[in-house]
Amino acid sequence: MSFFYKIAVLGAGGVGKSDLVLRFTQDRFEDNWDPTIEDQYTTTFELDGFAVRLEILDTAGQEDFSHLLDIYLQEREAYLLVYSLTDASTLEKVCSIATFIFNTRGANTPIIFVGNKSDLEKEICIEKGAVSAYIESFKYAACYETSAKFNTNVKEAFYQLVRLLWKRNKERNC
Ligand code: GDP
Ligand code: MG
Repeated sequence: MSFFYKIAVLGAGGVGKSDLVLRFTQDRFEDNWDPTIEDQYTTTFELDGFAVRLEILDTAGQEDFSHLLDIYLQEREAYLLVYSLTDASTLEKVCSIATFIFNTRGANTPIIFVGNKSDLEKEICIEKGAVSAYIESFKYAACYETSAKFNTNVKEAFYQLVRLLWKRNKERNC
């Protein structure tokens, strides 16, 4: 049995969206990845005994996100919302994106909240636990602290999104 899902990675500019996607799909990290690039990556892997193919939309420049999100959201089943652990304003941004997604796509949409740049320990300004408390009431959500740079928790975050999709789809069919 195999699965194919289309997901999108959203969040403020500079938080590490492209590096997370690059790390996950190609095991690479770029210090100077072009911020204007917006692209799709397809990757396959085995998870819990199943073959999984993910089409990942890496997005860029969502200042006017409510308009652009409409486009990004089409056909996407689940989302990775990325913020930087070193910049509280980027967390606010993903919280408003999450609200927008739940309002437009439904409260059962799987979302992973990813706090990236965990390697920049001295600059971290977001308390551990703040996000897990925030997402407690969301049905299909989870949070991870990652470092695309040092490949910490990157796979885990993407894998968990697939597991949340499985869980949601199973419960929907019950
Ligand atoms: P995007 O605009 O969200 O796609 O962000 P990028 O992936 O282009 O990354 C923006 C900047 O943050 C780049 O200079 C990256 O090298 C850097 N960066 C991304 N992930 C990490 C990380 O985990 N740790 C550190 N220290 N820097 C990172
Ligand atoms: Mg980018």
